[in-house]
Amino acid sequence: MLKGFSTELQRIFLLCLSGFVLGLLTDQMGWSLFLSCSLYIGWMLLKMRQLNRWLVDTSQKEAPETSGIWGIIFDNIYQLQRHQEKEKENLQAVIKRVQEISSALKDGIVILNEKGQLDFWNPAAHRMLGFSTKDQGQSVINFLRHPKFVSYFEEKKYDEPLELPSPRFNSKQLQFQITPFGNAEKLIVVRDITQLNNLEKMRQDFIANVSHELRTPLTVINGYVETLSDNNSTPQWNKPLQQMLQQGKRMSLLINDLLVLSKLETTEAGQNHKPVNIEQLLTVIKAETDILAQEKQQILGLVCNNTTKPLFYLGNEKELHSAFSNLVINAIKYTQKEGKITILLWQDNHHFYVSITDNGPGIDAQHLPRLTERFYRVDASRNSETGGTGLGLAIVKHVLLRHYAELKITSEVGKGSSFTCVFGLQEKL
Ligand code: ADP
Repeated sequence: MLKGFSTELQRIFLLCLSGFVLGLLTDQMGWSLFLSCSLYIGWMLLKMRQLNRWLVDTSQKEAPETSGIWGIIFDNIYQLQRHQEKEKENLQAVIKRVQEISSALKDGIVILNEKGQLDFWNPAAHRMLGFSTKDQGQSVINFLRHPKFVSYFEEKKYDEPLELPSPRFNSKQLQFQITPFGNAEKLIVVRDITQLNNLEKMRQDFIANVSHELRTPLTVINGYVETLSDNNSTPQWNKPLQQMLQQGKRMSLLINDLLVLSKLETTEAGQNHKPVNIEQLLTVIKAETDILAQEKQQILGLVCNNTTKPLFYLGNEKELHSAFSNLVINAIKYTQKEGKITILLWQDNHHFYVSITDNGPGIDAQHLPRLTERFYRVDASRNSETGGTGLGLAIVKHVLLRHYAELKITSEVGKGSSFTCVFGLQEKL
């Protein structure tokens, strides 16, 4: 840089000197100096023109050869251009790699701009949703018109994925998960879950069919065992017959619970919904279970702390009955003789609560998160004594899920447990 500057200064000095000498020789100092300045300015303009031509002409890659300050300027611009070209090549390599990765993905990827218009999609998304190049810039809603997708997209609650039939192939089931990113842009991941759904359906059908097929033979066997035990006159058969009777009843209960669960899984939620008088339902359940509590000399109470008006809830009465009575029967089953069980109904501005509280043995905190899993038992020996199936709380959880409600469990070993169902209050019925 310094060398270029000194060459330039030498050049200016020589021009001024020659102008000065010419001035002395011709006695026209002013004109001579003006001439030498004009020559320098002309040369500068020439170099600027050369620079502009080089910048405009993309076919000429190498910088023009020149000396002085202009040589340095040409060189620096040339270096900058080389650096930018290298960065461009690197970026292009990264884009190509990302495109290769997204093409290899089995899941569909769709990127939407901030207006919800199609920006980019990979080949899998093209196969599943049928977008083509001319669709770029179109709103995604024009292609995925299913009302469920439209409300999922517009409500902007993307915590859970959405499952829908494919817009191209009716037999296929797709799962959509939207993730917002950047400046209100969105990434949609589309998965083909047809096989997964078929497997799940096969599992549900298998359980439903097996349970159904087992019910009839078991009823027959249980009937004969009951008759045999009623008419038994051989004392050594008393115990085996009693055990057969007890285990047969347990199996019937298990099959019934499996059938209830599979019905909850296979039928669409929201069917047979009608306004249910919750207080009345709890009164019926209390009356039905009172006899069980009396057998254990327990006190079973019902307290309704809701407003003076009866509380109506739009739901499936049979399912709600099954959930609440499962909780009450559990409390009676697991609470010791002379224990106390309370069914409590109350409400606040947004929710109403049904809780079943007992002063039984309680449950250790480590078991609470797994309690609603199928066949999960806190204590297998205690369970076989009480004749439980291990499906009761799974049924409760399913029923509540179908009513967008939640089960909250609190318990303290030695003090008792409380199972609270939390329901959202609905618009006036
Ligand atoms: P089960 O048919 O065995 O009662 P559940 O799914 O209804 O199956 O309950 C799961 C487990 O939770 C039970 O095995 C029992 O150990 C425990 N449990 C449920 N309710 C209570 C309760 N009120 N008090 C103590 N333990 C309970």
